[in-house]
Parts: sequence; structure tokens; C-alpha cells
Amino acid sequence: MTSSIVVLGSTNMDLVAYVAKAPARGETVTGREFRTVPGGKGANQAVAAARAGAEVSMIGAVGADDFGVRMRAALEHSGVDTDLLRTVEGASGTAHIVVDDEGGNAIVVVPGANGTVTSLDHGDEALIGTADALLLQLELPLSVVVEGARAARERGVRTILTPSPVQPLPPELLAATDLLVPNEHEATALTGETDPAAAAKALLQQVPEVVVTLGAAGCLHAVRGAEPRTVPAPRVRAVDTTAAGDTFAGVLAVALTEGRPMPEALAWASAAAALSVQHEGASTSMPYRAAIEAALA
Ligand code: ATP
Repeated sequence: MTSSIVVLGSTNMDLVAYVAKAPARGETVTGREFRTVPGGKGANQAVAAARAGAEVSMIGAVGADDFGVRMRAALEHSGVDTDLLRTVEGASGTAHIVVDDEGGNAIVVVPGANGTVTSLDHGDEALIGTADALLLQLELPLSVVVEGARAARERGVRTILTPSPVQPLPPELLAATDLLVPNEHEATALTGETDPAAAAKALLQQVPEVVVTLGAAGCLHAVRGAEPRTVPAPRVRAVDTTAAGDTFAGVLAVALTEGRPMPEALAWASAAAALSVQHEGASTSMPYRAAIEAALA
């Protein structure tokens, strides 16, 4: 059974400069390489979910520029329906990323077209109503994220929120969230707790279920009424962990909406994210369903 997922989220063109050492303020350095890679947390989750086998539609906006054309094409190439992805005047969202030789990075995100998505129309709401799950992140204006979560809740559609970039979450958003998927830094920022299990327990006071991702250490699943449980990640040689979290969230959503119980869904998400970190690139490194199934066999 193919599940149906809607992503309400961002599209950004990642503009990546690779340098030995990032420049200090006022300094100019010569980089080694430059790449443009379609990204944005929303688009990344959409691509991950589509490649994992779901029917995926994306609600958001690109600008009327070359980046917008390329990002739409990249989504469609992975099988994402872009009928409700608006093209608006002005620039597409961009992420200006400097990666140094130690793998550290510094990032400036300019929202561009993403910032114009301030409300939903009837078509968006109708589409959300047909979905098995709505995936949300925080790279669109908060007002529309809240509106989307509420629209899903009213129609009985499961909501999965990645609270990134992390910021205080309004009570009305938490009230309409079924599953929260922060990484450990976000979990700490939201709760003040440095221990992931303590953070997850604190978050359970606001949402019914939490998965905290822990990088190479795997993830922690917490649900009301049970002790949090750690699920280890497959041991692999990581080359580039960009968008591992988005791969994890997208594939988790697919597995859950196919009716798999949470432990099995976490195994799917962990396998897919582990595959993605073994290759360079963000959306380009996301696995297709056959590769995920092979890794789980
Ligand atoms: P990003 O911002 O890079 O997308 P994130 O900080 O949101 O990532 P992480 O917690 O770093 O999210 O990683 C998400 C998931 O990806 C982890 O829960 C794990 O399953 C997988 N993962 C990340 N790094 C590794 C690794 N080195 N080896 C295996 N799996 C990994």
C-alpha cells in the first residue's frame, strides 16, 4: 500500500564553498571547490519520503529565478508532486554554506521565496486532508506552520514536526503535533535538559510522542507511559552527514504511514539515514526504497 505524504516546508539552493579554513571577519580566503545543491529542510524531507516509496506533494514556494527552476525539477526528478509549490516574484531561498577541511560548517540562510508562504489556501488544505501524514519544519514563517498543523489535526491527519531551526514552539503548534523529531541540540534548546532522555520526558508533557536523533549514536524514542528507549544507528563510515536528519524524518514518516509499528519504522529511518551519510551531498545522497530494503534484509 502506497502511503500519501504532504510536506509543508522550505526549498533552498545550497551554495557550498569548500575551504581549508573558514575566513575570519574581514578576511578573504581562496576556496577549493564550489557546488550548488538543491536543499531546504522541507524539500529534503520530501525527496527522502518520495525515494522511500510514498506519494509525496510539496507545499511551499520557489523564486522566479534559475534556482527555482532547478529546485522544482530536482523535486520532480525524485517523484515529488510540485503542483502546489508556488513560483513567486523575487529570489529563491538560499543557504550559503562554508565547509572547512575538518568538516565544520558555517551557514547563512536567506529565506527569499520561503518567506512569502504566510498562509494556506483552500487547495493546500484540501491536499493536506487527503494525506496520511503532514511533515513540518520551521524554515517557513511560523504562522503557516501552525496553520498547516491545525488543518491536518482538524482532518485527522498525523503531524510530524522537525523543530529546526530551533525556536520557541507556540502552544497551538505543540497541541497539533503528534510526533516531534528534534536532534539532541534542539531537544536541549527546547527544554534546557542536556540529557536526551530527560529532554524527551520534558517534551512528552507537550506532545504525545518524541524521537530525539543522536547522530552516530542513533536515536531515542519516547512515548507517554513508557520508559524512553535508545535505538542504535548502524555502524558505517560517515562521509557527509548533511541532511541525515531530514532523511531520517522523511523515511520515518513513510514507514509509519505504511502502518509499521514504531520500532520497525525507526529501523527503516536509521537504515536510510546511515545510507545517506556514506555519500557526499544532501538530497543527492538520499537512498531509494530498494537500497533501504536491502540494508534491512
Ligand atoms: P543534519 O542536521 O545533518 O541533517 P541532524 O543533526 O538533524 O542532522 P542527527 O542526529 O545528526 O540529525 O542524525 C539523524 C540520524 O541520522 C541519526 O539519528 C542516525 O540515525 C543517522 N546518522 C547520523 N550520523 C550518523 C553516522 N555517523 N552513522 C550512522 N548513522 C548516522
